[in-house]
Amino acid sequence: MTTDMQPVLNRIDDRVDDLVELTADLIRFPTINPPGEAYRPCAEFIGDRLSKRGFKIEYVRAEGAPGDSDTYPRINVIARREGSRPGPCVHFNGHIDVVEVGSGWTVPPFDGLVEDGKVYGRGACDMKGGLASAIIAVEALIDTYPEFPGTIEISGTVDEESGGYGGVAYLAERGWFSAPRVNHVIIPEPLNVDRVCIGHRGVWWAEIETKGRMAHGSMPFLGDSAIRHMTAVLERFEQKLYPDLAARVSDMPVVPDGARQSTMNINSLHGGQAEDFDGLPAPCVADSCRMIIDRRFLIEESLDDVRAEVTTILENLASSREDFRYELREMFAVEPSISDKTGPVAATTAAAIKEILSVEPSFVCSPGTYDQKHIDRIGKLKDCIAYGPGMLDLAHQPDEWIGIEDMTSAAKVMSLVTARLLGLSA
Ligand SMILES: [Zn+2]
Repeated sequence: MTTDMQPVLNRIDDRVDDLVELTADLIRFPTINPPGEAYRPCAEFIGDRLSKRGFKIEYVRAEGAPGDSDTYPRINVIARREGSRPGPCVHFNGHIDVVEVGSGWTVPPFDGLVEDGKVYGRGACDMKGGLASAIIAVEALIDTYPEFPGTIEISGTVDEESGGYGGVAYLAERGWFSAPRVNHVIIPEPLNVDRVCIGHRGVWWAEIETKGRMAHGSMPFLGDSAIRHMTAVLERFEQKLYPDLAARVSDMPVVPDGARQSTMNINSLHGGQAEDFDGLPAPCVADSCRMIIDRRFLIEESLDDVRAEVTTILENLASSREDFRYELREMFAVEPSISDKTGPVAATTAAAIKEILSVEPSFVCSPGTYDQKHIDRIGKLKDCIAYGPGMLDLAHQPDEWIGIEDMTSAAKVMSLVTARLLGLSA
């Protein structure tokens, strides 16, 4: 273990109570998204705390973003503290929104209950515990080295759980996540305290509709069933698409293992008329059948190829199957994102994990996306990773929790990484 940063690490150990209290305080804001509850008080809580530490605070409302209204304003907070001399800027970005509570809880979801070395609540692990760790890490560093070089930023942003359009995407479009303002970004998502997450797979959501012709259910030969047309699509998926996807394994270190290949989930399938008020079926031939697919793709695949693969199947059916008609509607697309694991933030974080935890860190990619996509695509900032305490599996679950020891270790890693990136420590 290096000794030059020992005073900072000791300070973090002295402040574990503060870390726990801060996490619990953040959990007590029920920032449920949708609709985007309590964003303003939560952002102001973070801003008030950091302004006392000499940070310049700015609140940015994402006017016109999806869901933004006077009742549910999309309020983001960005705190910036410039050091004693010019240097790079290290930015910690945490989303303050959480998903709905759902059922199955045995503890109150917004009390910030502390028990057996854990803090419980919705958002504990995803990702208020990570944000609290970053705040404590930075405060301990600044208190130890008030004359630090460069700049430190911390942001609390909204709407990550619904795509980040009122949060990081909005800010990135306005230059908040680009050089020279910012150089290195760490997103403390719960990817486990000993792993560095360098990116994520891509997403393509699309709706396929097959068309038919309505007729009386007793004489289906007079109509044309959209559902039977859809089964032809499904058959092609089973015979051709799924085997093709399963054979495509990525060099991206996606976890868990099953997500290291291309995948596609059929989200939903709806065909035909709804039942009547007595629960009896409508005696009709289905004139429409709709299927929504959720395709997750790899850095080795292009979005155009992903689209073409499905379109080709549909086009082949249109030319080979009698009366096959379809429409394809794209709903959402995000390219895969991956940063260089030898880049400054990834390599420095890996080294710090090794020093603090005495374990060999691993580089991973996330199966789903998170705000890194906006920093990469819109901000054009490549030196970005996710690193934070907490287990990804616990995110969005009932009785969500974060381990206090994990948060403390993560805070130490974060302070060491910040010190190194700013040139404060060798
Ligand atoms: Zn998250």
